[in-house]
This record gives sequence, structure tokens and C-alpha cells, in this order.
Amino acid sequence: MAEYKTYEYIWLDGYQPEANMRSKVKATEADTPPDWSFDGSSTQQAEGGSSDCLLLPVQTYANPNGHDIVMTEVQAADHTTHPSNYRAAAAEVVTDEWWFGFEQEFFFTDPETGEPLGWENGTPSKPQGEYYCGVGAGNVVGREISDAHLHACLDLGITLTGTNAEVAIGQWEYQCFGKGVKAADDLWVSRYLLFKIAEEFGVGVNIHPKPKTGDWNGSGMHTNFSNEAMRSAGSEELFNSYCDKLGEVHAEGIASYGSDNDMRLTGLHETQSIDTFSYGVSDRGASIRIPVYTVEHNWNGYLEDRRPASNADPYKILAHIVGTLTK
Ligand code: MG
Repeated sequence: MAEYKTYEYIWLDGYQPEANMRSKVKATEADTPPDWSFDGSSTQQAEGGSSDCLLLPVQTYANPNGHDIVMTEVQAADHTTHPSNYRAAAAEVVTDEWWFGFEQEFFFTDPETGEPLGWENGTPSKPQGEYYCGVGAGNVVGREISDAHLHACLDLGITLTGTNAEVAIGQWEYQCFGKGVKAADDLWVSRYLLFKIAEEFGVGVNIHPKPKTGDWNGSGMHTNFSNEAMRSAGSEELFNSYCDKLGEVHAEGIASYGSDNDMRLTGLHETQSIDTFSYGVSDRGASIRIPVYTVEHNWNGYLEDRRPASNADPYKILAHIVGTLTK
């Protein structure tokens, strides 16, 4: 009998303002994942009368724990880039000299009620304060899921560099590092694994930037980035000029950085107001922070764009940052 391999294809659907992830599994004798297709009329990507959309593999992850994972991009049936495909634009401008570190924040939720874990009575038992990096029942929930997710990502070769319990109970963060457009592929696949592993625990995931209004932190996706010059031929002038360039197109940036971000970027909770652009050394109330690391290394290092929301599409973030700084 022929040897069959199994591949789990992931794609982004046509929902607005944020896409959902979809997947399906292919069993094939092929050694590499072939192009495939799906019913775009079920994902807001095509009309029923002409419903085929195409899946083109862009990244394959050997998976010791199950089907190999295949990140894909979507084309229309005529092989043109589908309007829902933001990867194509990012891939045009982002080269591998650009490195990215995403700080993905999110909440684990009760799938029945949608409430964050630890909020079963409507609010947590204590105000914010002891939850960040906390330990002990009542201070932290979801640790076993976060740990399982970390190992699943590392097993796929996705570079998660850390995880931590966040400021609100039920809220977590992981950091995901990558180079070039693959950094965004990796982030999407890491999100996919997060949703899927949480599903196995009977738990939901919420990546909305402000699931709980009031005096509770929202969820962001701080995006650290650098290119070759920033890492090895940097200067105060270079870093300031990059910040100034991004500031000139602040509104475009915000449009690329996730919906409902105005609920999070209020000027409180370590954020700058959404209508204001600022940057500064070590300033967590700024739009862009120049890390002390960078200054102490004689202005060689990276920048942290603190504006992207937790629900932002990393392809749009990459296209905005690199597109702006290479213009
Ligand atoms: Mg954080």
C-alpha cells in the first residue's frame, strides 16, 4: 500500500475587520503539500455560483505530534491574489534582513459564556496587581495550556522565546520571533495552535484588544523590529528618523494595527492615546519605545512599536513598517 502523508492546511478567511483561521486536512502520497482548493462561498471569499478558491502552500512545518502544518495563501480561481490575501503585499516588501518579535497577548475564556477564565462570577476576586507572572490558585489560570502551546510551537520549529501570565487574570502573553515574512507566517501558525490546543482543554481564546472595559489591561501585540543597519550600523539619527517616518503615517499604521484598538490605546495602562504619536527612550507610554538596550549598545538594536493590537494581522504590520521605512 502506498505511503500516505497528512497535511493540515491553514488559511485566513474573508471576514472583516479580522479574518478567522480555517483549516482542513489532506492525505496524499505527495512528498510536499500540493496546491489545493476550498469552497470560498462558506468563508466570505466567493459567491456560490463560482465558489472555488485556491490554497497555495507558503510554509510547511514538520510536526512530530500530528499532521504536518501547512500555512497557505489564498488565490481566486483565476490564480490572481485574492482580496483577503494580505500576505502577498507583505512578501513583496519584507526581506529576511528584517527581524520581528511579536508579544502576543490574549485571554483564555469559558467557551460557554465567553467570560475570561477566573471571571466566572463576573469579576475576578481581586483587582489587578498580583496576577502578572503570578503563582498559586486564585492568582493564575490556564498555565497548563500555555505550557502545552509553548512546547507545540517549539516542536514545529516556531521560535517562541517566552511566555508569561499577564496583568489581568486569565490573560497571557507569548513572544514569537522570526525573520522576513516567515515571522508573520509563524505568528499565524502559533495562533492556530493556541486556539486548537485550548480547544482540546475545552477552553476558548479571545484576542480582542479590550475584552473587559474598566480598570483592566487590554491585550496588545507589541512588535519589536530591526533591520541590518539598526542592528550593526545604528545611530541616534537613524532611530529617530525611523520613528519620525512612522509618525508621519500614524493614521495608516493604526488602520493596519487591528480593529477596536481605540478601546485599548487610551493613554492609560501603559499606552499612548490612539490620536497621538510619540516616541522615547524606555517610554512605555509612547507609541514607539526606544529600548534602553539599543541606547546602551551605542544605538545598535531594535525598536518596539507598541501600537499593534492583539487582533492585528501580522502581514499588515510587516507591510506597514517595512513599506514605510524602505520608501
Ligand atoms: Mg505584555
